Amino acid sequence: MHPTDFTLRGAIDALNEGIITSVDLTQAHLDAIAALNPRLNAYITVTGEQALAQARASDARRKEGVAGPLEGVPLAIKDLFCTAGTLTTAGSRILGNFTPPYESTVSANLLRDGAVFLGKANLDEFAMGSSNTTSASGPVENPWSRANDPDTRLVPGGSSGGSAAAVAARLALGATATDTGGSIRQPAAFCGIAGIKPTYGRCSRFGIVAFASSLDQAGPVARTVEDCAILLRSMAGFDPKDSTSADVPVPDFAAACARGVKGLRIGVPKEYRLEGTPPEIEALWEQGLAWLREQGAETVEISLPHTQFALPTYYIVAPAEASSNLARYDGVRFGLRVTEPNSDLRDLYERTRAQGFGAEVRRRILIGTYVLSAGYYDAYYLKAQKIRALIKRDFDEAFGKVDAIVTPATPSAAFGMDEKQDDPVKMYLNDVFTVTANLAGLPGLAVPAGLDAQGLPLGLQVIGRSFDEETVFAVGAAIEQAAGFTALPRLRAGA
Ligand code: GLN
Repeated sequence: MHPTDFTLRGAIDALNEGIITSVDLTQAHLDAIAALNPRLNAYITVTGEQALAQARASDARRKEGVAGPLEGVPLAIKDLFCTAGTLTTAGSRILGNFTPPYESTVSANLLRDGAVFLGKANLDEFAMGSSNTTSASGPVENPWSRANDPDTRLVPGGSSGGSAAAVAARLALGATATDTGGSIRQPAAFCGIAGIKPTYGRCSRFGIVAFASSLDQAGPVARTVEDCAILLRSMAGFDPKDSTSADVPVPDFAAACARGVKGLRIGVPKEYRLEGTPPEIEALWEQGLAWLREQGAETVEISLPHTQFALPTYYIVAPAEASSNLARYDGVRFGLRVTEPNSDLRDLYERTRAQGFGAEVRRRILIGTYVLSAGYYDAYYLKAQKIRALIKRDFDEAFGKVDAIVTPATPSAAFGMDEKQDDPVKMYLNDVFTVTANLAGLPGLAVPAGLDAQGLPLGLQVIGRSFDEETVFAVGAAIEQAAGFTALPRLRAGA
């Protein structure tokens, strides 16, 4: 067995049993990155020497009998998480030279638990996108390809496309990601892996480059549901440095994966039956529900009546917050500065921002500034906030009747790198099944459940009650077990 083929759980066991050292496991991943990253572009920065030093230190700790829950496990870190002393670009030219002096809380928690960092994973610029084609470091390629059209390069999804592609191609055992409107779940589904956006407040946002602060949440992607559960336990927890982080206990999520679904009531929202959804996705959804029934769950049709307003609401709230958050990139305090000999301050701002931000980020700043401007604030932003409250209320009512909700993760399988690039609205439609959980602050997990006719992975989504990730993991693990998803991407280490 190639060392990069371990699951994260399997690697922890192998390390504990002395079957492999962290140095060997880390080196195998660095070799795989050297071989495949030139094609996939999943990593922006590879920190090979630092990773090996961390691995040596980890092996030494283990010898002394000290082993954290992630002792010696090599991971990728989305390049949106600040890592002390390591370039953190957010996929943007404007942060192209930014090396933070501090560590994000989530990555610090992973280091505390013994993890090894292989490098920084590529992403859509400032996490805005669904295809990982807007990064200043270039697009990421999905390691999967269509059976009858292997030459068309596919997107890995976005914005956490580098994280998902790295994990799917076996260039990391797991990765951090963030999800503002679907950026963990959609790339996980496109790459045939699992990923969870936890409840808003479960993970600290401290040290994560902000996109839309009331929606952003960190979470893991990994090749199994249990691996996500193990990673989330380390990532999560109260942090006094983030006033929105929740002071609630962090349960043993991995234990919850084995709970089963007997007696659970699973909601099936009728508004998620969208016209134009490929029949394969409809069929997979039905299949997933049948699997859960076979394992003792009951499926119940529910209604989330404001679902149709979720996308327009998201695409007002998220750009509004983004336009405010991105005001800090002024050429003075962070990153890129563009001046001319006679530049005054205004000229410095304009040149820096015009050259520093890519087209999609500029579009979001324009939309956001517009919806927040005097005269339009009530018509757009305030109305969106009200609808957001109604969407949340829909879920509150549904969770009076059901324990979890199951839907498709995405309205399509991975698409070609050249597709949907001419029409931003088409790109935004990718998020139709995922943005609701962000607007309501709820946990959502994507789990690979099947293949389409082209042999591309398709995922199902499990949405749960606030701070009830345990039920989400139980349902996700039950689907995973029934699906027995063993297909592999064409581009992967050891292939
Ligand atoms: N695709 C969505 C967007 O472009 C979601 C991004 C995200 O979750 N970070 O805004």
